[in-house]
Amino acid sequence: MPSTTIDTVGNWINGRTATSDSPDATNVYRPATGEVTKRVPAGSRTDAEAAVAAAHRAFESWSATPPHIRARVMFAFRDRLLADIDDLAAIICDEHGKVLDDARGELQRGIEVVEFACGIPDLMKGEFTENVGTNVDGMSMRKPLGVVVGVVPFNFPAMVPMWMFPIALVCGNTFVLKPSEKVPTLALKMASMLADSGLPDGVFNVVQGGQTVVNALITDPRVEAVSFVGSTPIAEHIYRTATESGKRVQALGGAKNHLVVMPDADIDSAVNALMGSAFGSAGERCMAISVVVPIGDEVAQAVRDRLVERIAALRVGAGTEPDVEMGPLITREHRDRVISYLSAGVEDGAELVVDGRDRCDGPGFFLGASLFDHVTPEMRIYREEIFGPVLAMVRAESFEEALELVNDHEFGNGTALFTADGGTARTFISRVRAGMVGINVPIPVPMAFHSFGGWKRSLFGDHHIHGREGVRFYTRYKTATIRWPQGRSSAAEFVMPTAK
Ligand code: NAD
Repeated sequence: MPSTTIDTVGNWINGRTATSDSPDATNVYRPATGEVTKRVPAGSRTDAEAAVAAAHRAFESWSATPPHIRARVMFAFRDRLLADIDDLAAIICDEHGKVLDDARGELQRGIEVVEFACGIPDLMKGEFTENVGTNVDGMSMRKPLGVVVGVVPFNFPAMVPMWMFPIALVCGNTFVLKPSEKVPTLALKMASMLADSGLPDGVFNVVQGGQTVVNALITDPRVEAVSFVGSTPIAEHIYRTATESGKRVQALGGAKNHLVVMPDADIDSAVNALMGSAFGSAGERCMAISVVVPIGDEVAQAVRDRLVERIAALRVGAGTEPDVEMGPLITREHRDRVISYLSAGVEDGAELVVDGRDRCDGPGFFLGASLFDHVTPEMRIYREEIFGPVLAMVRAESFEEALELVNDHEFGNGTALFTADGGTARTFISRVRAGMVGINVPIPVPMAFHSFGGWKRSLFGDHHIHGREGVRFYTRYKTATIRWPQGRSSAAEFVMPTAK
């Protein structure tokens, strides 16, 4: 296809599409075929400033709109998302490569946050105390922050933005979303759906691009807060830079999630869980299981034998094809990076039991599932996030040894334990150093009314994302102490006021 026929996607500013003033652009691919489908502008400081200016102008009126009216926009948005779920899933499948059912699943998880946001009149309700002193009342309330920014990764084009903006908006903030340059389309689709749902112009804006746009957004003096989800080095950069500029920041980073299999676990359930959580979405999930820790050699052998069988039967192909279980990786460069870890693992002395490289044929960015055994904590394939369909087996002798492994890893996003014993499970939940724990559940992604976030270098900042933590992050607290004159004015007091 000649490059002249390829469209460049736009921004969404002040309720309508806008063209970037940046002359540079990068390719957007269809990972299943390797074709370039679109171009995305590199973005400029001017683009970022236009989006922030629109959001800044819209704040005064939107923040003064009663919460139940703001919630009505979300009710309408939810209905539109549900009505168009198949079309939206097709966009995700086309740009990201994940299978259609998985794309519908991520939309569903995003819609659940929208549903949670519909409850904002109750969630934002304040506190009131009659008579904090004689004839004096006290009340506390949550106020919106102002313009808030969301910077998101490629792997969940719908769900991760929806972890942020539904709650930010119903709290009365205005929003600027910076989508991943690899999957720019869904954000624009959601922007026009929000407008059709009654959201006033300027309340939600989208600015495309990369580093230049992000750095302009997170240092703009009109921006109050930044939500970031992506890799750990960038999360740390965002956290440092934006907090230095005085912003409130939540920056969620990378992961290396362990699944521990106890000798009393149901091995078939554990292997089913491993197949889905290690290889679903080609391992490109921050909650993917990338390390399995069987306790004892007997369990290790049983898990290994069944995984080998199951991987041989794994259906890899375009996400639009019926019955396909795993799609391609996001780009050729990312696939090359994942492949480089297969060589690194072998060089470091791990046993490559199944090598996914034999599924690399054709122009699409496919890679089969790989399994390493006898991985040890010093190896790069253990220490670093690979973000592909590669599962590492680290054998442990005891529960304590497995727990120590999980706790010593620099990442602490999610983890899981498969066991039949309640006591072991309880100890694991209590002592493990990770933000999200699954017991016989491989990908323990919290529901919308709980909150999502990791520990250690998987999250920089104080707040997890969505749920009540989201409401706290996107609001600040104010307390008023109120006395109405009743007959006579009181004399001046020079000591610390105490309740009388
Ligand atoms: P990434 O860090 O490369 O990019 C994330 C965002 O940051 C993108 O919008 C990108 O344009 C921007 N960005 C990239 N480099 C930048 C720079 N130097 N300065 C400013 N902005 C920059 O991540 P990705 O490859 O899109 O996504 C995969 C990563 O995201 C994985 O590490 C995965 O674990 C992580 N992730 C984490 C969670 C979580 O909840 N913890 C969820 C999803 C993905």
